[in-house]
Amino acid sequence: MPDYLKIKTALEAQGIAVEDNPALVRQKSRDFFWYSPILKAQLDNVTGDLVASPKSEEEVVAILRLAFAEGVPVTARGGGTGNYGQAMPLSGGIVLNMTLMDKVKHIAPGRVVCEPGIIIAELDRQTKAYSGQELRFHPSTAQTATIGGFIAGGSGGVGSITWGGLRDLGNILRLRVVTLEAEPRVLELSTWDLQKVSHAYGTNGIITEIEMPLAPAYDWVDVITGHDTFMDAVKFADALTHRNGILLKEVAPIAAPIPFDYFNRHKPWLKEGESITVLMVAPHAMEPFLAFCEVMKGAVRFRSDAVESMKVIPHAYEIGWNHTTLRALKVDPTITYLQVQYPGPDHVAKVEKMVEIFGDEVVGHLEFIKFNGAIQCSGLPLVRYTTEARLEEIIRIHEENGCRIFNPHRYTLEEGGMKQTDQTQLDFKKETDPKGLMNPGKMIAWDNPDFDFDAGGNYLFPGLQAFAEA
Ligand SMILES: Cc1cc2nc3c(=O)[nH]c(=O)nc-3n(C[C@H](O)[C@H](O)[C@H](O)COP(=O)(O)OP(=O)(O)OC[C@H]3O[C@@H](n4cnc5c(N)ncnc54)[C@H](O)[C@@H]3O)c2cc1C
Repeated sequence: MPDYLKIKTALEAQGIAVEDNPALVRQKSRDFFWYSPILKAQLDNVTGDLVASPKSEEEVVAILRLAFAEGVPVTARGGGTGNYGQAMPLSGGIVLNMTLMDKVKHIAPGRVVCEPGIIIAELDRQTKAYSGQELRFHPSTAQTATIGGFIAGGSGGVGSITWGGLRDLGNILRLRVVTLEAEPRVLELSTWDLQKVSHAYGTNGIITEIEMPLAPAYDWVDVITGHDTFMDAVKFADALTHRNGILLKEVAPIAAPIPFDYFNRHKPWLKEGESITVLMVAPHAMEPFLAFCEVMKGAVRFRSDAVESMKVIPHAYEIGWNHTTLRALKVDPTITYLQVQYPGPDHVAKVEKMVEIFGDEVVGHLEFIKFNGAIQCSGLPLVRYTTEARLEEIIRIHEENGCRIFNPHRYTLEEGGMKQTDQTQLDFKKETDPKGLMNPGKMIAWDNPDFDFDAGGNYLFPGLQAFAEA
């Protein structure tokens, strides 16, 4: 067992802020894992031993040097909004709070260089004020999540309808990462190389500097349209996103009864029983958008440029993406969700098939995105949860019908499905983290290279044992 008092004293001697109050450490060891009834049961007792909060890359290096010498796990943390337990320290150890590294270093046409701990909305605020630009896309947690956490734990979001996701070459320009070795190295990664570190849950490097591409910023207009049925909303959204000239940042059809039952702040504008499409439209595109609505029978129920004050009304994106799930969970804690990809070009037919099969047990919520150059939709449908076995069955039926599931009820990179680790990934981890101390338990290929993904088994990290017995 490492001597955490000695570690704390050594770090504080170097001017690094360290917290060891168990209640505060536990608080910083949790994220939105509780979204999933399965992860809630598995991870509820997980906690780190110390929280260290570096203010600079030099302090990150000092922490990682000591962690290597003492054999202590290190789990990076941004805003802690990940919803698969990504930032939870399954073997305890040091939680590396990155939020003090929050500086914007350089803004230029088309790009920004910043530290990883800046809150995404603040980064957008600064790039907009300084240069009239904004990030190409951001998660719906922009108000609380960090840019480093998004890159290491997220996938895409608001703006992905135009720009695709983090996985697309060119949507991250450069990363600086620190390795966990006897003498930590600082690596500069770009193009294909940086994809080893993006969406790797901080298992193979601590990101200390980020260069992101920017797009022109607009005062986006939030719009909600009403539709008789969910499929009417889906067909409206599909037709709209195939109109090349109307600039959009968010297009999310959401089935009744979700909007009226769960979107409390928007309720005065919504009609019971109606499905909706949540949109963000560029101001100069509003006129053509409204002309499109007239022809395609989208009834405009809400537009942010027509209300007196938006003070108490959430941003449109805060009822989309995983915020749809959050708002439902606040009202009905028995609900859970899935992440589905409906590959095109027949994505609309695939959605329709799932609606026919599951009815009200799986309630539709889609996000239209650009995927490999084409418009298609991904989904975050709400599931009326009964048992784990039924959830597995729902997943199986989706997959049998060509709708791929990225399982949000798993905490490993591989089982979540958004990143299949391969030999290159494993070799890189051997190089950057030879003792396997970075966020242990999240990469099956490291712990158990023989794990059989086809057997349908659930990988449980042995390091969790200590917490399970606690
Ligand atoms: C309501 C809700 C809505 C969401 N909407 C979206 C969405 O639209 N799109 C989306 O992609 N995700 C979404 N998410 C998931 C999550 O919010 C985002 O991925 C978010 O960007 C994570 O940022 P964070 O700062 O909170 O990261 P954290 O949760 O703190 O960390 C995420 C992962 O990154 C690692 N990490 C953090 N900082 C570093 C660093 N500097 N170096 C290396 N590793 C690091 C952590 O170890 C962890 O594995 C949503 C989650 C919730 C709860």
